[in-house]
Amino acid sequence: MTTSSKNQLVPHGVPPVYFTFRSLEKLGVAHATTTRHCPGTAVWGEPQPLVGPEAVAALAGTGLDLRRLTWARQVHGADVVRATASGGFAGRADVLLTTEHSAPLAIFTADCLPVTVCDPDARVLALAHVGWRGTVAGAAQAAVAAVTQTGGRSSRLVVTIGPSIGPCCYEGDEPVVREFATAYPLTWERWVNPTGPGRFVLDLWAANEALMAAAGVEPARIENPRLCTACHPDLLYSYRKGNRGRLVTFAALP
Ligand SMILES: [Zn+2]
Repeated sequence: MTTSSKNQLVPHGVPPVYFTFRSLEKLGVAHATTTRHCPGTAVWGEPQPLVGPEAVAALAGTGLDLRRLTWARQVHGADVVRATASGGFAGRADVLLTTEHSAPLAIFTADCLPVTVCDPDARVLALAHVGWRGTVAGAAQAAVAAVTQTGGRSSRLVVTIGPSIGPCCYEGDEPVVREFATAYPLTWERWVNPTGPGRFVLDLWAANEALMAAAGVEPARIENPRLCTACHPDLLYSYRKGNRGRLVTFAALP
């Protein structure tokens, strides 16, 4: 882990069972991103409960009320679903929104970006699942828009980007790059670097940071510890490294 990730991410357990962000802790937002050392988190188990008793025990220190969890079938899009107070399966969506307190949202990732967007004063929270398709579809901006349209103010937003694949490891091919170029004709070249014939490295971190900044979030309030899933296969799940597990990112309003 880099120095900056140590400053922003707090490991819990040895080896870490989950991470938290200092910025969200300060706001009183109960949250966690699990590692591969967290037991009892199902792989795509919807619509049955996604966290087993072992996970509830392992996450007891987070303060999350997992009985009120909301989750969705993630489809690499940018649709937003609003959670209810009681939680449950929310249908097909990649952005979850809530104004309920103590009712956690959950997003599942393995290389894709788990993005948390919170306005602590307006008491609005969103979680987004953002891979390359979600970046092209605008999922991170959709999360920002959902929060601001629900009373949030963009200047107050606190955004975190959890462990996900970095430009160190994320290769794409020409069809992917073409979709980026079509979606973002003025800026895509900043996020795509050629590495060989028909091969490119994609920087989804830089892309989503820039897209959320363009959507009104103050860049200094976007926290990205730049912890790469593919660089840490012993700690995290990476789809590209052949792991079939999922990291779970939870967050709930205080
Ligand atoms: Zn990497």
